[in-house]
Order: sequence, then C-alpha cells, then structure tokens
Amino acid sequence: MDRAAARRLDGISDSRWAQRIDALRITEIFCSLQGEANDAGHVCTFVRLTGCPLRCHYCDTAYAFQGGQWQKIDAIIEQVEALGAHHVCVTGGEPLAQPNAVPLIARLCDAGYAVSVETAGALDIRPVDTRASRVVDIKTPASGEATRNRWDNIASLTAHDQLKFVICSRADYEWARARLGEINVPTGCTIWFSPSAGEITARELADWIVADRLPVKFQMQLHKLLWGDAPGY
Ligand code: SF4
Repeated sequence: MDRAAARRLDGISDSRWAQRIDALRITEIFCSLQGEANDAGHVCTFVRLTGCPLRCHYCDTAYAFQGGQWQKIDAIIEQVEALGAHHVCVTGGEPLAQPNAVPLIARLCDAGYAVSVETAGALDIRPVDTRASRVVDIKTPASGEATRNRWDNIASLTAHDQLKFVICSRADYEWARARLGEINVPTGCTIWFSPSAGEITARELADWIVADRLPVKFQMQLHKLLWGDAPGY
C-alpha cells in the first residue's frame, strides 16, 4: 500500500487493538428505507463503518472517512435489535477495511437478519459470510479509483450477490459495457447500473441501456429522491 493509501486508513489504524476487543469504529447506526439494489424499498437498519481507503470523486459519504466511535460487536447488535428492522445493511466508508466487519456480519446472519454488505470491490470479499448479499462495486475510470478494482472478487460471487457500476459519462458506460463482455458473473447475481448524480442524467443512462439491450438492471438511489444527501437516511 502506498503512503497516501495508508494515510486514508488513519481512522482505522488501530484496528489490531480493535480486533482484540471485538470492536469496530462506527459512524452511525440508523433505520431508513434501503434505496439501492435488491433490498430497495425495504425498511432497513444501516450500520455505517468509519474509514475508506478509496477516494471516489463522487463520494457522498465522505463524512464517514474519519471520526466515528469504537463500539463492541455486542453493543452494535443490541442497537440493531432495538431498531427492529429485518433488513440490515453493513456499509461505510468501506466496511471490509475493518477486520471485525467479518464477525459482525456473521453475527447478524446468525441472528436471522437479511444482511447486505456494500463494498467498494477493492478488498477480498471471500471472508464475508455468504449468507449475506455482497453488493460489490466495480469502480469505473471516471470514479478515479478504477485501478483499485480487485477483479478476482468476481470468481467469489454467488447468485445471492450483486455487482454495481456507477456510471459518470458515456465513456464510463462504454467501458462498463466492455467489462461485462469479459467477466463471468454467476447466473442470478444482479448487475446494477446507476447514474452518477449531477454527471449524467438518469434518462441518458436508461436510453443507452435500452438501445444496447444490456442485460443489467437500471437503478436510481431511492433514498436520494426522498431525502437528498442528508446523513442518517
Ligand atoms: S468506496 Fe465508497 S465510501 Fe469509499 S470513497 Fe468510494 S464512494 Fe466513498
């Protein structure tokens, strides 16, 4: 890892200590509607972990890069229980940058929640419990982080997982379309294309997908339509 990337992990640099005490650095835990992917529209508890080693230019959760509070896994589970939703989304930041995300996800699955995990696709997803649906980003060139894509994650996907491309331009769209022809995604694994807000219109992306008869699903971020970029939704 280069020095810049190491600095980006400053918020979780004491993760060895945290691992020993079963703790994670948490930015927020809240209940809202899931706005994306297969669980869109469900009432969902979000567990947002602090820290991310990437810097996508369109990031809408930069407030989770630093800060947060160390919380033990037992305390996190208690809060999830108190919020009362059946669906739970472990997100960030980049949740997998904290090693204790793996036991947290397993505990949530053990407790019977419908768990999804939103990850940037730059880290190994194999340790993540396959009872959870792993929503893995493929970073496009215009994100500024395409070199961080960990392509061998594709081989670990199951029919229960999901791939997500955020498209920022026509060039991004053509790049993503070309990648679809190269990767071998398991049957049943949903592939999502979303427009990057403020860069292309939803209509443009929808028209391109229809024109190409592309075997992907189009999505817009439901929570942004409802609540904008406000944290906690
Ligand atoms: S991976 Fe996600 S949290 Fe990290 S910079 Fe990119 S959009 Fe933001």
